[in-house]
Amino acid sequence: MITDIELMDRARGVAELAYSPYSSAKVGCALVTEAGRIYLGCNVENASYGLTMCAERVAVGRAVAEEGAGMRWVRAAVVALGLEFPPCGACRQVLAEFAMAESRVIFLSQGELVSMGMSELLPAGFAPADLNG
Ligand SMILES: [Zn+2]
Repeated sequence: MITDIELMDRARGVAELAYSPYSSAKVGCALVTEAGRIYLGCNVENASYGLTMCAERVAVGRAVAEEGAGMRWVRAAVVALGLEFPPCGACRQVLAEFAMAESRVIFLSQGELVSMGMSELLPAGFAPADLNG
């Protein structure tokens, strides 16, 4: 199984491919699914800023397109070249949609690798079950 460090390296690698002429932030995400496959995403910005897609959402989209609606991820590494930050709020919501109880998000904070579950990243978050009463 791929280690957290190796997964961060994969995220760092795909971050190099980011299209980010507006923010200059190059972000990569490497997602490991329950099926054991790895999907990569980088941020894709747009002149109409609101259309910008974050690395995490690109990776989730690629995973669903390959594995279907039942796709579930177990680990997601997020790397921003030269910067450190966790997934934004929108990405937390999208990651939560396909997360399992044991799913962990990995990112750097003050040079240290941080690993958090969705309940820590998105406490009291809106869940698909909320739509079913
Ligand atoms: Zn985001």
